[in-house]
Amino acid sequence: MNLQQPAIEICGLHKWFDEHHVLKGVDMTVDSSDVIVIIGASGSGKSTLLRCVNRLETYEKGVVRVHGEDVPEDEGYINKLRARLGMVFQNFNLFPHMTVLGNVIEGPTQVKKMKKKEAVEIGRHYLAKVGMSDKEDAYPQTLSGGQKQRAAIARALAMEPEAMLFDEPTSALDPELVGEVLSVMRNLAEDGMTMIVVTHEMGFAREVADTVGFMDGGSILEFGTPEAIFNHPEQQRTQEFLGQIL
Ligand code: ADP
Ligand code: MG
Repeated sequence: MNLQQPAIEICGLHKWFDEHHVLKGVDMTVDSSDVIVIIGASGSGKSTLLRCVNRLETYEKGVVRVHGEDVPEDEGYINKLRARLGMVFQNFNLFPHMTVLGNVIEGPTQVKKMKKKEAVEIGRHYLAKVGMSDKEDAYPQTLSGGQKQRAAIARALAMEPEAMLFDEPTSALDPELVGEVLSVMRNLAEDGMTMIVVTHEMGFAREVADTVGFMDGGSILEFGTPEAIFNHPEQQRTQEFLGQIL
């Protein structure tokens, strides 16, 4: 790890699903403590991009570097990479047969081989951060969607990742539960976490993003400050997309 290098660097990334060219040369640099929000229509390739960054998907061309290190296509490296990048999904993906604390210490004990006592200490620290200390013994099915997502964020944080990737973390939530998850994410950003966030929450993007990228048809058509993207986007496709949703 070289902390002088960008936290995440994506160069010329191409991805095909068989004949379907889904990522068409994506370039992106995320500096440490930056928050990049990716917006764009359904099917434009946002999830695939995040999944390629931590190698939940293979890709055919391009390079992803994490703090300056290439990630060779080797299982050992890939597992190490996944431990360095926390991922939060739309549908929480908690282990249903484990308590909240069990979910949170699973990675530290199984992947990092940490002693249980130490993992519990770290786990409780991050559960406190997301306001879930009183739920450590609860099972996922007894939680609200917002609580599940906050537990999932604590689980990712317990690995002490170098950056966090969020794929529409509030899209599956009832509207009244969106705020509590966004507020946890805003706190993380304020603490200096490096984040790539795919979201349709434009208020969050305006307030929290350093940079907003508009994705369309497998490319990022433009990057800019929230002010630039929302108030005077350069690309017509960006204007059309924002016109439909704002
Ligand atoms: P977004 O997250 O922006 O909605 P996705 O990254 O999910 O977009 O999808 C981009 C394109 O890739 C879509 O056309 C989608 O149908 C296709 N795609 C996504 N996942 C797969 C897959 N596992 N197999 C085949 N095609 C896929
Ligand atoms: Mg998606």
